[in-house]
Amino acid sequence: MPKALAIRAGEVDHFSHDSTAAALDRLTALVEAQARTIREYEASVAQSRHIFEAASAAARLGVWECDLASEKLTWSNGTYDLFDVERGTPLVRERTLGFYERESLQTLQTVRSRALQERKGFTLDAALLTPKGNQRWIRIHAAIECPGHRPIKIFGIKQDITEEKQRTEQLRYLAEVDDMTGLANRNKFRAQLSLLCGGEPGLQARGALLLIDLDGFKDVNDTLGHLAGDECLKEAAQRLKMVCGKASIVARVGGDEFAVLLDAPFVRTAPQLADRIIAALSQPIERVGRRYQIGASVGIAALDGCDGPEAFRRADAALYAAKGSGRGTYRVFRTAGRAG
Ligand code: GH3
Ligand code: MG
Repeated sequence: MPKALAIRAGEVDHFSHDSTAAALDRLTALVEAQARTIREYEASVAQSRHIFEAASAAARLGVWECDLASEKLTWSNGTYDLFDVERGTPLVRERTLGFYERESLQTLQTVRSRALQERKGFTLDAALLTPKGNQRWIRIHAAIECPGHRPIKIFGIKQDITEEKQRTEQLRYLAEVDDMTGLANRNKFRAQLSLLCGGEPGLQARGALLLIDLDGFKDVNDTLGHLAGDECLKEAAQRLKMVCGKASIVARVGGDEFAVLLDAPFVRTAPQLADRIIAALSQPIERVGRRYQIGASVGIAALDGCDGPEAFRRADAALYAAKGSGRGTYRVFRTAGRAG
């Protein structure tokens, strides 16, 4: 309470020496002054609240507090808006758990329990599906009020970070995906390859790398134009994905060069897969009433104790051998150094 609101003992004493009317006047003046001070105080609180709400709305954040005994929530308007819940609705924690996506809810429950045990705050990103069907990402900052041995409150800030998440996802997409075909790009493929590589030579291979290069692709560009060439690359990518299925990673690693990574259990099937790829890519491509004929050659290398770049070099040597033996076929790299 502001200082001016307190009536000091001396002032009351002072009134007792005045005439009744004068004392009444002084008292009235004092009460009016105090009423004015209260109005000013209220106006200043309202102004602060207005600034807080406006700043919260601009930053898309809200303040929240949960009483741990009753599980009752206190939310600022910003928090209600984040969850698309009508402002002022009385809430208990249980009711809001359904707004979180399943995986986020599991993480939130685990992190929150640990934080309460350790009496330490936390920061966590969580995905929401609001009652109005809006999907949002929020960042939760939580602190714990623990005056004695037991925590009594958990409180903090929740901020809408949906746009930040979308930007990050867009950057990840650009860094990992080949824009034209939608396949993984060379960077992403290299990272996946290095995860699979390693192990001792002679041990069972951890996987196989297939490098695929279209045959005679320059002719399509030269005779039908670059756009027709692009159409061929997109169609080739779709066919590769269909033939390879989910058990492998398919990427576009260069102009008309694609790569497939096979997990260990499928290594022995690599030659059959190469045959199916060649057959699929040799079917004429028909797009917007035009027909293009291409083909493909494949180089295969087992991932048995070599690193990623070496695996690429080996598959490339095998591919070179396939091209040299007339195209439309595959070759397997043999560890003795020759593709056979
Ligand atoms: P080979 O049978 O020996 O593989 O020869 P090729 O005619 O297929 O040509 P090569 O593989 O040596 O070269 C691939 C060509 O693909 C070179 C380049 O002009 C073309 N190319 C590279 N990137 C793109 C692209 O994004 N779009 C189109 N349309 N063409 C591309
Ligand atoms: Mg080619």
